[in-house]
Amino acid sequence: MLILGGTSEATALAKACAQHRVPGVLISLAGRTAQPAALPVPARVGGFGGAAGLARFIAQEGVTALVDATHPFAARISAHAAEAVTQTGIPALALLRPGWTREPGDHWIEVDDLKGAVTALGAAPKRVFLTIGRQGVGAFAAAPQHHYLVRSIEPSGIALPQFTELLARGPYDAPAEAELMAREGIEIVVTKHSGGRSTYGKIAAARQLRLPVVMIRRPPPSGLDATFDGSAALAFVAAHARSSAPAPAP
Ligand code: NAP
Repeated sequence: MLILGGTSEATALAKACAQHRVPGVLISLAGRTAQPAALPVPARVGGFGGAAGLARFIAQEGVTALVDATHPFAARISAHAAEAVTQTGIPALALLRPGWTREPGDHWIEVDDLKGAVTALGAAPKRVFLTIGRQGVGAFAAAPQHHYLVRSIEPSGIALPQFTELLARGPYDAPAEAELMAREGIEIVVTKHSGGRSTYGKIAAARQLRLPVVMIRRPPPSGLDATFDGSAALAFVAAHARSSAPAPAP
């Protein structure tokens, strides 16, 4: 069983597999984070070499089923997974993270990509809370009139006078986010529509402070059968695991 990971959902699924003693589970990480969260199942790190490389890995390692639990914005690996699954014919499931819902008082400016987000900030200088992870930060060098508080787990590696880096790992709650935004004089928030609970605090805090949020839309899904439900993913893994170990109770 191959779990494509790099998310809290993948880590939770791996933990549930270990807890229920599901055999033969391997989690795959891209290797972007130097110190990934501890995992209770074996892990491999690094790209496969495109869809063909992943299909080769599936055949060589005798992978019998796959769960794509990668981030909603990791569209390339998800497309490769869908293609490799078609090539190899193994059963597969995507474990998706629920998106956020716009609530009264939210002021979202929805854009398709990073370039759209840069444009949405406008010409007048602003204090921006940039919470898109470290990948993609470079796009904002194109709008140097703004000041950016850049929060990410690891440094972006981009040293520009208008960027102040804040290294942190979620989850983040709304009161702490509101306090941070007020203290830093934030006027606008930029985020990917990642969804889920652990980073929702900034959305609630922006609503409370009446700040606009530039929301980068999700890329389209890969086309794999999908669920939002971690227990359904665990049941899928247990059903397709290598031995006849009993399936966990739902
Ligand atoms: P991506 O653009 O979809 O993938 C780029 C390449 O990285 C893939 O083609 C693949 O290389 C390799 N890769 C990605 N995920 C992998 C995995 N789980 N195992 C092995 N190889 C993987 O992905 P990304 O946006 O760079 O994200 C990289 C990882 O960080 C993902 O696993 C994702 O779950 C996690 N993550 C991403 C974000 C985000 O905002 N994008 C946020 C949080 C976590 P090959 O083509 O060589 O196989």
